[in-house]
Amino acid sequence: MRKSLLAASAVLSLAITLATASPASARHRLAPVPGSPGIGDSYYPDYGNGGYDVAHYDIRLRYRPDSDLLTGTTTILARATQDLSRFNLDFVLDTATVRVNNRAATFAREGDHELVVTPARPILAGQLMTIVVQYSGVPSTKVAAGFTAWTRTTDGALAVGQPQIAWWWYPSNDHPKDKATFDISVSVPNGVEVLSNGVMPRPPLPELIGWTRWSWRMTTPAATYLAFLAIGQFEITTDTAANGQQIINAYAEGLGEIEGAARSSIERTAEVVEFLEGFFGPYPVDAQGGVVVRLGQLGFALETQTRSVYDGGFWRRGSNMYVVVHENAHQWVGDSVAIDDWKHIWLNEGFATYAEWLWSEAVGEGTAQEVFDFTYAFYPEDGGFWQVLPGDPGPENQFHIAVYDRGAMTLHQLRLLIGDEAFFGLVRTWLALHRNGDVNTDEFIALAEQVSGQELSAFFDTWLFTPARPAVGGEAAAARTAAVVAEPKSWAKIQLGRELRIG
Ligand SMILES: [Zn+2]
Repeated sequence: MRKSLLAASAVLSLAITLATASPASARHRLAPVPGSPGIGDSYYPDYGNGGYDVAHYDIRLRYRPDSDLLTGTTTILARATQDLSRFNLDFVLDTATVRVNNRAATFAREGDHELVVTPARPILAGQLMTIVVQYSGVPSTKVAAGFTAWTRTTDGALAVGQPQIAWWWYPSNDHPKDKATFDISVSVPNGVEVLSNGVMPRPPLPELIGWTRWSWRMTTPAATYLAFLAIGQFEITTDTAANGQQIINAYAEGLGEIEGAARSSIERTAEVVEFLEGFFGPYPVDAQGGVVVRLGQLGFALETQTRSVYDGGFWRRGSNMYVVVHENAHQWVGDSVAIDDWKHIWLNEGFATYAEWLWSEAVGEGTAQEVFDFTYAFYPEDGGFWQVLPGDPGPENQFHIAVYDRGAMTLHQLRLLIGDEAFFGLVRTWLALHRNGDVNTDEFIALAEQVSGQELSAFFDTWLFTPARPAVGGEAAAARTAAVVAEPKSWAKIQLGRELRIG
């Protein structure tokens, strides 16, 4: 959902103007053409699609944990951004039927995740289209991009992944550049729980004999990879936050010895949200919460919108708030404010990591400066860490530790350079300005220059785009080595997030 309603209606009136224009101009109108099979991402050229913009997904599923069979219907409300003879969706399950604007459409598979849809009638630029896709399949048997992102568990399944996951459970325009609102409902055998994003608009309701339908709803636009499912045996806790939002947490059965540490960390989610509001401004999404799955089931945590999903491994050494802070920070940076190309991933991970440093300082486990000093000294000057460019790490290094740690170091140095007032003002302005939108590094640099009144291109070139350890100021700079800089108390807990894969 890239355009505001105003812009969308402007496009619509333009389309009406074109459609009713004189015969002379109508003759010059180009014939409808196929939408592009990719949205134009520099790392993943065939992810997402061109020619339309999704406003809403209504995903209605039935799932059988015993066979991993998923059947369903997804209805997509989208607006054409060009005259379309056909368009692509990203999807890997077996498609039974597709309808576009109330008529059966033809469709064909292409490549490993493209579904090419040809509507009965061309779609005009600016026109709304309703796409209804009926499908079924066993997601754990589908391989695309060389792997299967869907995780089948002993009692259900997890659809949690970055950047690939949507293909295995709903057809979409799979790129953070095209955000949409979601209704997600899943019918499962009685006694099975279904967790997903947003609020629960109604309690689970009986459906047929022996089945129960769970419903979830996100009214704040989300990127496709941030929609998730966690199906299985879960214990669910509910509460209401001070701001009135639903807090829904869920803990997989069988967490074992990590259960206490996981719960005592996750149950502080609302407190973390309030802490982060102090730096980032008002919490930008519909609901709060976390889902903890059994140790090793995912091997990572991910900032799925409104309700992050965490592997139990983050608590294998006891309580750990840092992963909770990290994932909740992403509700602002990454979720509400998404990146328009995967190469800008440092904007997500640098900020979420820096939020961990701010938490460390707040709880007396090392100031942001101390964590910076230790991090800077920790990675040897001649090591591979400093060769990865946070501003353009390449798809193979998209989630390299340098994107996280050098990204956070960049923000800390920017803060020292422009001062606290300008830095935190910049952060709040950035997040407010681009709420529900998408961004890139150039836009961040431009705003940083505007807010600070300083020319910063050399600074960002050094920190984001130069394969070398940048020099830092301060009298102790020359003496900084891991041996002489004291390890902050928070370091081991923050590092645990790096040993696993923090999303
Ligand atoms: Zn992250």
